[in-house]
Amino acid sequence: MRILLVEDDGLLGDGFQVGLRQMGFQVDWVREGRAALRELSTGNYDACVLDLGLPQLDGMEVLTLARAQQLKTPILILTARNSLGDRIDGLNLGADDYLIKPIDINELIARLRAISRRFHGHVQNLLIIKEVCLDASQRSVLYKNQPVNLSGKEFEVLHGLMLNAGRVLSRGQLEQRLYSWGHEVDSNAVEVHIHHLRKKLAPELIQTVRGIGYTFPSQ
Ligand code: CA
Repeated sequence: MRILLVEDDGLLGDGFQVGLRQMGFQVDWVREGRAALRELSTGNYDACVLDLGLPQLDGMEVLTLARAQQLKTPILILTARNSLGDRIDGLNLGADDYLIKPIDINELIARLRAISRRFHGHVQNLLIIKEVCLDASQRSVLYKNQPVNLSGKEFEVLHGLMLNAGRVLSRGQLEQRLYSWGHEVDSNAVEVHIHHLRKKLAPELIQTVRGIGYTFPSQ
C-alpha cells in the first residue's frame, strides 16, 4: 500500500514514516496543504493520513478542496484531544476515519487498511480470486492452498493487480506501488516481478495487455 502522509511536525512525521515503512507500506511525506493536494490529485495513493493543524492551508481546507475536486483517495484525519467538533466536521467534509493524538501506530495501520479495502470494495483483508488467496494483513499468499513465497515487491505487484482484478494497470501504476520518492526505479523492475510471479503462481494468472499493461483476470 502506498500512503500519503501530511504532517508538519518533523518528529511526529518521522515516527509515522518509520513505523509505516517497517510494516511494508510505501510512504510519501509532505508537510503542507498545497503539496498534499498536488499529491492527492495524482491518484497514486491507497490512503492519506492528514493532520488537521497545518501551516497556511490547514487540513480541513485540504479535505474540503480534495473532495470538491472529486479526489477520492481515502483520508484519515489526525485530530487533537477535546476536538469533537473537528472530528464531526472532518467526517462531514468527506474524511473516511479519524484518530485522536497521541496516535498508536498499530491502530493507525489497522485503520488505514480498513479504509483502503472499503474503498476498493472489499470487506476483509483476504482477497481470493482464481485459487489465489492473498492476506493483506499477514502479507501472505496461498495458491491452490499451498503457501507461495514472495518478495515484498512481488507481493505489492500481486496485491495491486488483485485489488484491481479485471482492470488493466499500466507499468507506471505498478511502479508507483513499489517506490517512494527518492528510490530509484529500475526500468524493467515491474517486468521482472511479473516474470517471477508467473513462475511462482501460474503464467495465465497475469496477462499482458500489449502496449497498455497487465491485468489479473477477475474470473
Ligand atoms: Ca500539525
